[in-house]
Formats: sequence, structure tokens, C-alpha cells
Amino acid sequence: MQRQSPMTGSCACGTIRFAVTAPPLGTAASHCTQCRRMSGVVWSSGCVKAPDRTTHGPVKWLALSQTTKRGICPDCGAFLFWKAHDEDTISFAPGAIDGPTGLHLDKHVFTASKGDHYLIAEACRSAHRPC
Ligand SMILES: [Zn+2]
Repeated sequence: MQRQSPMTGSCACGTIRFAVTAPPLGTAASHCTQCRRMSGVVWSSGCVKAPDRTTHGPVKWLALSQTTKRGICPDCGAFLFWKAHDEDTISFAPGAIDGPTGLHLDKHVFTASKGDHYLIAEACRSAHRPC
């Protein structure tokens, strides 16, 4: 079931509110070291064209690498957004969406750097297949 757009969401304290006005182009769970450290385990995301995401509130952008940046709430620290400098898309945290998302995880990425304290079900390992 695909949820109708727009979807709205917020950080934990409500300082940052956002809306996604188009269906996501895809979803993924990132196991890269930076996403693991920012989220505590895995950071899952939905990806939309940048103009299809609107934000209210002072997002703090962290440039943890030379090619990407992560958007967090400056008050509660919620990790809400991820953006590659050379792409016209932006990823948002489905976990911050108000209510059900209707989304399904498409793929896992950067699994070679996943934490050793959890397993990824085999059915979910292949990219582009809902799990
Ligand atoms: Zn907050």
C-alpha cells in the first residue's frame, strides 16, 4: 500500500517539521559507519527530489564527509535528512513521519560495514526487492 502524499513528520522535540510532497523514489537502510554512529544502529530513509521536501525549522547540517551532509535537529539531535552534494535528491527518515508511512524497504546499502550485533534477513539483502 502506497501512502498518499504529502507525508508530514518532525524531530523528537518538534523544532523541525517537514513534509514530503511526492511519493519516494525509493527507500533504503544504510549500514555505513556514519549512519550507524548517527542513528545508533541503522538509518533507514526515503529518497525524493529535493524540491519535494519542505522544512520548517533550523536544520543543522553536518558535513561528515566531503561528498554528503546530514541534517539534524539542533535541539534534540534527531537525524532527519541526508544529502549528497552532487545529487538533486534528498533522503528523509521515515521513522520521523507522522503515523503510518505505507512504505516498504527496498534495499540495504553499505552492508559490508554493518554492525556485528545484528543480522540482516537474507530476503532483505538483495537490492530493489521489498522486504
Ligand atoms: Zn528536535
